[in-house]
Amino acid sequence: MAHTLVLLLVAVSTLAITHACWPPSSKPKSCSNNCQWSAWRSGSCSSPCGVSGRQRKTRTKVQRGTCASSKCSGTQTTYVSCRTPCAARPLFGSLKGKCSDLDIVSRSEWRARKPRKESRIGLPVDKLFIHHTVTPTCHNKYMCSARMRTMQSGHMDDKGYWDLGYNYLVGSDGKAYKGRGWGYEGGHTIGHNRDAVAISAIGNFETTRPDRAVLQAIANLIDCALKEGALSPDFKMYGHRDVACKDCPGKYLYNYVKASSHYSSVKMPKWCHKKWNY
Ligand SMILES: [Zn+2]
Repeated sequence: MAHTLVLLLVAVSTLAITHACWPPSSKPKSCSNNCQWSAWRSGSCSSPCGVSGRQRKTRTKVQRGTCASSKCSGTQTTYVSCRTPCAARPLFGSLKGKCSDLDIVSRSEWRARKPRKESRIGLPVDKLFIHHTVTPTCHNKYMCSARMRTMQSGHMDDKGYWDLGYNYLVGSDGKAYKGRGWGYEGGHTIGHNRDAVAISAIGNFETTRPDRAVLQAIANLIDCALKEGALSPDFKMYGHRDVACKDCPGKYLYNYVKASSHYSSVKMPKWCHKKWNY
């Protein structure tokens, strides 16, 4: 009986070591499969090695070790951790993002007009708003570029904005189209044009379901924003409708926003005056 108990204790302690969080004091508090996403921008797996149960107790005092070829190095008094990249984290709905897979269409490529004015904002920001453009979708660069020019004229000439309001847009051709770019005050979300960035999907997703290409482009673009330091690693994602009396980004696209691990269900004040209702 005592022998069985010892075996059980050994098994439990081995399990605990295998799933130890690193660094112990950082967020998130829990981890599964040794993946800690908030600790590193790109996400990484931590597989503790060469650590005894006794050393684990002193883990707050020790420093990160190094790992080469999956072998531990470091002194006995150092908590050594082997870090290997994890599979990419889902960034939008259940989709994983990969910036290097994204084709970004520059302003000169879609033949943008010059902005009337620009104002820089500090990066990274910790909020991302998802919008839709309430226009027909577009499925190739030619059509999407035309859509971009029409929207820019609408925003600048009819609404009096400095430029097209969004930081970036994505089309059903799977490409991203540069709007104001990260780091510039937007004209997208009343109350949050200086403390957030916005991605808008070209289409009306209140009436149409977004296709895979547009969803993947959003996920890839979010990965770019993280890699380029535009968004903080623990950013919160919202739909425009979370802060405005609007359908935006449409019920079908909003379902993906809500399914995202970065979605924040914390209620925010809504701007509902007709004057601000864009
Ligand atoms: Zn919107």
